[in-house]
Amino acid sequence: MRCVMIHYNEIGLKGKNQPLFLRRLESNLLRSTAGAGVRRVEQRSGRMVLYLGREADWEVIRGRLRSVFGIANFSLAERVEPDMAALKAAVGNALEGRTFRSFKVAARRAYKQFPLTSEDINRELGAFVQGQTQVAVDLEQPELTIHVEVLPRDLYFSFGREAGPGGLPVGVSGRVVSLLSGGIDSPVAAHRLMKRGCQVVFVHFHSFPFLDGTSRDKAVELAQLLTRFQYQSHLYLVPFGEIQREVVVGAPAPLRVVLYRRLMGRIAEQIARREQAKALVTGESLGQVASQTLENLAVIEEAVGMPVLRPLIGSDKEEIVQQARALQTYDISIIPDQDCCRLFVPRHPATFSSLDEVRAVESQLPIEKLVQMGLDQMEIQAFEFPEGSREPGTPGVAESREG
Ligand code: ATP
Ligand code: MG
Repeated sequence: MRCVMIHYNEIGLKGKNQPLFLRRLESNLLRSTAGAGVRRVEQRSGRMVLYLGREADWEVIRGRLRSVFGIANFSLAERVEPDMAALKAAVGNALEGRTFRSFKVAARRAYKQFPLTSEDINRELGAFVQGQTQVAVDLEQPELTIHVEVLPRDLYFSFGREAGPGGLPVGVSGRVVSLLSGGIDSPVAAHRLMKRGCQVVFVHFHSFPFLDGTSRDKAVELAQLLTRFQYQSHLYLVPFGEIQREVVVGAPAPLRVVLYRRLMGRIAEQIARREQAKALVTGESLGQVASQTLENLAVIEEAVGMPVLRPLIGSDKEEIVQQARALQTYDISIIPDQDCCRLFVPRHPATFSSLDEVRAVESQLPIEKLVQMGLDQMEIQAFEFPEGSREPGTPGVAESREG
């Protein structure tokens, strides 16, 4: 029977939260592979096994698993009866038509009562494969590695392994609200938090109709793209132009960006409370632009009553660009748009703002009313991955467990 053998990151999964983490990984695996022919998932001796139906399309499943956080590595595997004759026959069959110049067998026993040790299995299966194919064993750099896993009721073998994305299963770390601009950095920042197990809620501020609607369209595309890592997303689209118009009436031009950011922070915080999210996430990187000096970051953060996470704070633009390319968000991010923070702002905004100065300006502004305006006018979009994955008929989590 075909299945997928999945190894997860054990270090992140220790302690009393482990059962919870594993249940989440199970449901994420099922959700991400919905519609692709996975029958069920089982926790087996420190691994996860996906059992595949006949119709299952491995390439589709493989593509999906590459985005499931918590997976250390995975491989298409075959399950056989727990004896060496069955194993040899099945491996022999599976190798037919496959060419390789060297190989090794790497067996691991989760079930120590199996009559052969891992070494015995390596030797016996190795000799068999060598006899059948006339290919030499190379323990250092084999072209093909035949993995064998010995579990209590059965054996599994697979050829090679593919690295998973690592991280923690999305959902185990709670929720955060990501301030998603149309730019390169913020989608990468959101992805970092997903990788640490967060469910990310997106908030985008746009100045349509004062500016064109491109940034909004980009945010929609980015949210959709990032949903493949977390299966369902909410994107809050907050019209910001009207709010900005009121800000500029009372605010000196160099301070405007910081004032906008503080308002964004306050509105995002309210959205976070509604979504039961515990922190905000931004794509800020120290010194990248005027608003990202330590002084300005402190002033922006002061307006927010919850942690502001900045996973890219120490990253160079080049590293961020590389990650954005890998995520495929880059091509969307570089589409030219009119960022809302450029509205009514001088070419060179202040790199240093004092909190006193900012507070004095804000005391002349109807801050609460402006926040409420954003909340009243925002629009929410929902995304899911894969499309239609919440339809009834998604396979259930198998009951059987092993210690
Ligand atoms: P990015 O590439 O993410 O736009 P940036 O280098 O352009 O970042 P800024 O424009 O200063 O930097 O924005 C800093 C952060 O503030 C962004 O990473 C994002 O988290 C948030 N932000 C900026 N503009 C918006 C917006 N219109 N809507 C939501 N969040 C925003
Ligand atoms: Mg930007």
